[in-house]
Amino acid sequence: MGALASPYDRKGTGVHEFAGKVAIVTGGASGIGLATTRLLAARGATVVVAGIDKSEIEQLGHLVPEGPGEVAARVVDVTDEAAVRDVVDFTVTRYGGLDIVVTAAGIQRYGTAADTTSEEWDEVLTVNLKGCHLTVRNTLPHLRARGGGAVVLVSSVQAFVTQSAVAAYTASKAALNALARSIAVDEAGNGIRANAVCPGSVDTPMLRAAARRFSDGTEAGERELIERWGRTHPLGRVARADEVAEAVGFLAGDRAGFITGVALPVDGGLLAVAPVVLP
Ligand code: NAD
Repeated sequence: MGALASPYDRKGTGVHEFAGKVAIVTGGASGIGLATTRLLAARGATVVVAGIDKSEIEQLGHLVPEGPGEVAARVVDVTDEAAVRDVVDFTVTRYGGLDIVVTAAGIQRYGTAADTTSEEWDEVLTVNLKGCHLTVRNTLPHLRARGGGAVVLVSSVQAFVTQSAVAAYTASKAALNALARSIAVDEAGNGIRANAVCPGSVDTPMLRAAARRFSDGTEAGERELIERWGRTHPLGRVARADEVAEAVGFLAGDRAGFITGVALPVDGGLLAVAPVVLP
């Protein structure tokens, strides 16, 4: 008997887990979103990336290996509903439908509840939460038209636990988990699953920017702080973006066919540990 075709097999048999599927990934040109774009495309999906940063979008061709899945990209601000609608229309017109929606666009700002201004609050909540809602609102009709699909919202462990001075961010992520549950409940009858992925610290441009800000600004200082953050995770390090993309890809695919409404930590054990150590 010949070997079974693996859903991960890029060359061998040409059988790919996401062959024939069309995905939109917001924030898909950097960090976790980029790793997700690469994973979905490597496993056969056609991926349309929607990101706000023109230079990231222009670099994308160099960052995603050729085939088997096609990758297209558009400069889109997810807080602009007309722009979101345009990229969705582009996707459906060009590729004939939509099966998978991943929202990885997000921003981090710092401030306690006492010192976060309403401008900062609105900025974070608008990108991290409203941006996801606008994406979902404009894509769900197309998933329904396909008879079903999968939505994966990239949330954070900060939906459950909170570091200091991230009031708006942690609130946005907790709300995102609730939004995933809400979509799961409301769309189950349409064959649509919705889940959240909750990463701990992940080595991405966002984390590096934070490390630069809170270290002495040198490369060594930045690296040392990321390692220090890594040691707070029981596995002793921060995640790679592709490790988070694995969870996103799993939840986006048919192997997760009976999983909906969950918030899956991908956190090296961070949420499992109580910071009380026996002497
Ligand atoms: P990143 O900065 O590398 O990627 C974020 C992407 O979102 C970028 O491509 C950026 O251009 C895009 N973006 C920002 N605002 C946008 C907007 N208005 N419209 C469209 N695109 C926009 O950071 P990342 O770490 O990959 O973050 C991805 C997601 O993962 C975010 O939601 C973040 O909150 C979450 N997350 C990150 C970590 C971490 O440690 N890196 C941990 C937990 C959760």
